[in-house]
Amino acid sequence: MTLNDLLNLKPENFKNRDMPIEAILIWFKLCDAYWLYSGKAHAELTSGMCSNGFFDCLRVLKYIALSEILANQLARKIRSAIGDQKVDWVIGSPMAGITFGHDVARALGAPIFMFTEKDPNQKGKMLWNRLAIPEGDTVLQIEELTTTSKTLNAVREAVDLGNPNPVNWLPYVGIFVHRPPKLPVTSYGDRQVVALIEKEIWAVPPDECSLCKGGSPRYRPKTHWKELTGKG
Ligand SMILES: [Zn+2]
Repeated sequence: MTLNDLLNLKPENFKNRDMPIEAILIWFKLCDAYWLYSGKAHAELTSGMCSNGFFDCLRVLKYIALSEILANQLARKIRSAIGDQKVDWVIGSPMAGITFGHDVARALGAPIFMFTEKDPNQKGKMLWNRLAIPEGDTVLQIEELTTTSKTLNAVREAVDLGNPNPVNWLPYVGIFVHRPPKLPVTSYGDRQVVALIEKEIWAVPPDECSLCKGGSPRYRPKTHWKELTGKG
């Protein structure tokens, strides 16, 4: 399969079946969106930390057809977890997950999708001040990429604080790529994790890195993709 084959896939052919995760990861690799340590080089993150893995979901989700197919895959998984419970609102975080969250809402049959906004005055904080969720409407939280609960909690706090009524959250969070430093992580607070892709990905300072100690070279994914992945 080539990237060109991938971009010619038809969403309707994937509508009613679950794709194996390994097949989805092949798509990621075709888009240079995923790499996992396999015995050679390892990654140097922008922060200077070392890591055994790399995900950039936007490299896949920027393709409208792939976003639709994968949103439907996550929606199928969410449906099998929540049953036929009504979902009135799907809410996500900015920026990378906005279009994907919209696709997930559509695939779930939810009538409304909206996202929180970053607070320009406080890093890590979110705002919810454009729309009011009526009391009694059910709300499902969606994320495109989750490493820790930080963004999940910021979204929830923003909506709880900014909405004029109490918010009726469903006790689940739908996650496209779940990459905590240690698996399993089955819930964040009272929200059960429903993830499409899960990989354990750690990041440590170089002086604590076992791969550096073992002589593995480290490369920045964005500038040295070929050296990191061995992809010619
Ligand atoms: Zn290292």
